[in-house]
Amino acid sequence: MPSSMFVNSRVAGALATWLALAATAAVAVAAVNFVRLRDDFETEARTLHRIVSQRADQHDAHLTSLAAVLATPDRSSATLDAVSEAVLRFYPRITAIDVVRIVSPSDLVFSTRRSWLDELKSSKFATIAAELVPGQTAVTTEPDDDASYHLVKRLPGDGSRASALIMTVDGRRLVDTEGELPPETRLALRDPSGREFVQLGVTRPSAWLVPGLAFEKALGSRSQPLLLQVVRRPTLGELLPPLSAVLVAAITGIGVLLAGVVLRERRAAKEARQRASFHEHQARLAHAMRVNTVGEMASGIAHELTQPLTAILSRSQAGLRVARSEFWERSEIVDALEANVHLAKRAGDILARLRAYVSNSGPMPEPTNLNQLVRNVADLVRSDLGRRGIILQLALTPDEPISMIDRVSIEQVVHNLVRNAADAIETMPQERRTVLMATAIDSNGAAIIVTDRGLGIPPADLPRLFEPFFTTKPEGMGLGLPLCERLVENFSGRITAANGPVDGAIFTVHLPLLAESPKEAAE
Ligand code: ADP
Repeated sequence: MPSSMFVNSRVAGALATWLALAATAAVAVAAVNFVRLRDDFETEARTLHRIVSQRADQHDAHLTSLAAVLATPDRSSATLDAVSEAVLRFYPRITAIDVVRIVSPSDLVFSTRRSWLDELKSSKFATIAAELVPGQTAVTTEPDDDASYHLVKRLPGDGSRASALIMTVDGRRLVDTEGELPPETRLALRDPSGREFVQLGVTRPSAWLVPGLAFEKALGSRSQPLLLQVVRRPTLGELLPPLSAVLVAAITGIGVLLAGVVLRERRAAKEARQRASFHEHQARLAHAMRVNTVGEMASGIAHELTQPLTAILSRSQAGLRVARSEFWERSEIVDALEANVHLAKRAGDILARLRAYVSNSGPMPEPTNLNQLVRNVADLVRSDLGRRGIILQLALTPDEPISMIDRVSIEQVVHNLVRNAADAIETMPQERRTVLMATAIDSNGAAIIVTDRGLGIPPADLPRLFEPFFTTKPEGMGLGLPLCERLVENFSGRITAANGPVDGAIFTVHLPLLAESPKEAAE
């Protein structure tokens, strides 16, 4: 996965976690606020119900005292006027007091109204009063009396003297909360028949998923069993005020950030552990493969050692013969010993190279001359290839490329490439049994190129060459090229495979050149 996509997917993951957390926290805050709002609402609605019930009770008291004035034998209409006026002045919700005769309602007895009670209404009240026993009170509303209700009290007296006291009350003032209603609150009063005659305030339909609050209870007054209804729809803003929303977003955001930092630290530590164990594993694999190849090379190396050892033997025998003869020349003995020293050094060199190759020391980067490195590998494999009828050619750049690498690791890489090349041309006709090892310097750095004239690589296999366990050989393990790639990457290099323009395959190891590449550094 490209690193930018990796970063993007991490950011997206963190964002999603933050959103989920913030949403959960917001719902929790809203739930707490809702419970608080519901408790407040219930307290306020109960208080209002108590106050309104008490106000209704006062109406009964007024009716009783007015009835008492009317019942006084020597009552004057001035007394009734004065009492009524006082009631109306002190209780503005009581808007009118009337007295009607039950038998002849059109013949009005008393009214505080400027224009007298109309005939139709007075006969309606008379009809209601006719159904009552003296002292009993009934409540009624009239469709055209906006928001008012009437208390009809039957007064004592029969026949033509039978009359009723009517008190008209403004329902809106009865439920007046002496201030603004909370937002999204609606108050209503219903008469005993269920008709809603008072509405205060408005509510919109509930916000999404926010439940409404409702209170409904008849007033505690026996004469006025009006139903008080209060409905409240909490708004989203009340449940989650902007400041809380910002706090929720900020706190959860900081939480996610902290969790991200902790997780990243943990992941980095885990990756470091994995890298360490991978490097260890890789080093062990590289060593095992080197030991394995040395085993394969044993006969070639034995052959290479035979030559100096045979020469040492024959030179020593010749020297011995000279020394035993009567007339011996000192210079002949010196020559033989000098030749032996030279040959023994060569044999020692071959063994030293071999020992270095199988050594299991960790990678030790040092300025290394790549031409020299290629020559070393050539010396190691030449006799083996020769035995298989394969010619090894070198084409080394005169510029002596120097790279900062572990010599043994990169020798192993080149050795692997040469072995693969040899495998690829083993069954080819004689003229194609050539492996070319070259070095070059270009703008990208240094390169070691191994070319063969085998069948090349099928295009479908090209992208899979460096996958572990990809092999087309019956005895192959498919670990050579992946290991080469890892070894080269250890020194910021890379390895590429391509087909030759005519035939065969070309493998190139690209390595950075040592910046200030003093030739002496490698010498
Ligand atoms: P192995 O040699 O065990 O198969 P490698 O990883 O060294 O494992 O090589 C993987 C495969 O790459 C080989 O099996 C072969 O198919 C292909 N390959 C490698 N080098 C060459 C080459 N020079 N010419 C053609 N194919 C090659």
